[in-house]
Amino acid sequence: MDINGKTQILGIFGNPIGHTSSPIMHMSAINALKLNYVYVPFLVELNNLEFAVKAIRALNIKGVNITIPFKEKIIPYLDELDQTAEEVKAVNTVVNKSGKLVGYNTDGDGFIYDLKKNKIELKAKKIVLIGAGGAAKSIAISLLKQKPKNLILVNRTKNRLDALKKLLQTKTELSISTYSLIDPNIKEYLNDADIIINTTSLGMEPNIHESPIQDFSFIRRGQVFYDIIYKPNLTYFLKNAQEKGVLTINGLGMLIGQGAIAFQLFTGLEPPIGIMKKALLFN
Ligand code: NAP
Repeated sequence: MDINGKTQILGIFGNPIGHTSSPIMHMSAINALKLNYVYVPFLVELNNLEFAVKAIRALNIKGVNITIPFKEKIIPYLDELDQTAEEVKAVNTVVNKSGKLVGYNTDGDGFIYDLKKNKIELKAKKIVLIGAGGAAKSIAISLLKQKPKNLILVNRTKNRLDALKKLLQTKTELSISTYSLIDPNIKEYLNDADIIINTTSLGMEPNIHESPIQDFSFIRRGQVFYDIIYKPNLTYFLKNAQEKGVLTINGLGMLIGQGAIAFQLFTGLEPPIGIMKKALLFN
């Protein structure tokens, strides 16, 4: 990679940021397409977020991804949101369109992209979504567009659970049920589900022995377990499901999916998905 007077800057804002795989993934695509871009991590302090966003314009940065903890906090500083970011009220991609900062959310579509890649049909399926944070919100909104049979939301904190249900009920005729993570009947509806998705951060490095579920005796043949965590690649949640012989999928494909859509928004070019995947797998 040569940097010269015409090099364009892309990056990611987050805190912490040292764990991010996005620079590796985007640089692999930039190098493969021989583009004159560079993608860098930016460690942003919360009290500097507004200045950091102003710097996108001031420094003519072409686009940035946004990760924890800024996906919602960044919204007041942007000029416009696309429809999905507006619905989700969270942004993971900002594109600088000649000084106008437009926010997008590619997480939900990245998730659906990966399910399709794994040939998992959502239509008429019974789905349990564990977690009610930012990722859960974007995934749930995208899931509903695929017309599942039902959707059950499970979370530790009731307020967030209720807020997510309220938001989703404005978008669907389906009746969405909600349960606490410590509901005594949790095994019953987990057993009834076709697809169980973990969107909580439980099990993410370094806390690899954590899981939103402790008792896996409910698992039956044919179920699919998806964990949007990608580090480690086999979470405690997926390991237990795998031991029962059901299909398990980690969050790497979703990471690639959301990143590929973001890359297309940044550059207008078709992302080299195979190369992006290889870069993530070998780093
Ligand atoms: P978030 O908004 O902070 O939400 C965190 C979720 O985890 C909430 O539901 C929270 O429950 C739950 N949680 C956290 N600690 C818990 C605990 N000790 N016990 C029970 N529940 C707990 O985070 P997010 O942005 O949604 O991200 C969640 C995870 O998804 C992270 O691991 C992130 O790296 C991953 N992610 C992956 C991708 C991908 O492309 N693969 C994309 C986005 C995010 P409460 O409401 O009770 O706090």
